Amino acid sequence: MLQSTEVIPSKPSRVVTPTVQVRALASTLPLDDIKPCIETRELTALFDNTAAVKNVTMTVPQRAVTAIIGPSGCGKSTLLRCFNRMHETVPGARVEGFVAVLGTSIYGDGTSPIAVRRHVGMVFQRPTPFPTMSIRNNVLAGLRVDSRLRESRENVDGIVEEALQRAGLWAEVKDRLNESAMALSGGQQQRLCIARALATRPRVILLDEPTASLDPLSTQKVEELVYELRNTVSVVIVTHNMQQAARVSDRTAFLLAGELVELTSTRELFTAPADERTEAYITGRFG
Ligand code: ADP
Repeated sequence: MLQSTEVIPSKPSRVVTPTVQVRALASTLPLDDIKPCIETRELTALFDNTAAVKNVTMTVPQRAVTAIIGPSGCGKSTLLRCFNRMHETVPGARVEGFVAVLGTSIYGDGTSPIAVRRHVGMVFQRPTPFPTMSIRNNVLAGLRVDSRLRESRENVDGIVEEALQRAGLWAEVKDRLNESAMALSGGQQQRLCIARALATRPRVILLDEPTASLDPLSTQKVEELVYELRNTVSVVIVTHNMQQAARVSDRTAFLLAGELVELTSTRELFTAPADERTEAYITGRFG
């Protein structure tokens, strides 16, 4: 079992005064019993010959939120981008090691990055709606490269509604689907991007600091959405905000200088971390 390779403390050596509030529900799910959605083994991600992610072996459970935290530049985004083959889109970048999504190696011979990205959607730091497209066509943009669109043309309206419902945006936009996406607020645009990622019905959704550019109210809406999404899709969220990780995630991974220091339940990581470096980080001694 890959899970046995994770750094899960059996006996916490110390109990840390929590600096963040952890949701009561966060540790109640028996996540170790759920089949992993993503598994990595000795995953290393390089830019030219410099490793930004080093020998990471970890699992991401299904239908749960996994947060990746750590100081700026520690490799959080790079690790996330290995999960849907985005890392290799940077010239000179390459990946070594093993990554599987639902048991299938995504770097195997003949595996199409486009197919991988359909199953593993991604949302970036800044909202990236297509500026010349309507709200409706933005939701459908990811399906354009997907043959299912042809098969289900009569269901397109249903796909748009379902994705916008799941992204918590339907009520706000249902009467203006043909308006430009640029007429939406920043927070709405980010939820539109989440709807776009959900429209291909991915099994995993990767969120790279999705609230970094949002005001507090929009941030709260996106966090509530992330918390809800875990019922239907696996979520991995990169955040530099420990409070956010504590609010929305079931499990948290702490990354330092490209290495996975610790991955365990969010409650445990923030109250009884196994590693002194985790403790130093969550208590604000560096980072
Ligand atoms: P984080 O998300 O934790 O802030 P990143 O994954 O963005 O960290 O970056 C990890 C390391 O990789 C950093 O040292 C950063 O400078 C480097 N890096 C990120 N993007 C590139 C790139 N396009 N080319 C070269 N190095 C990069």
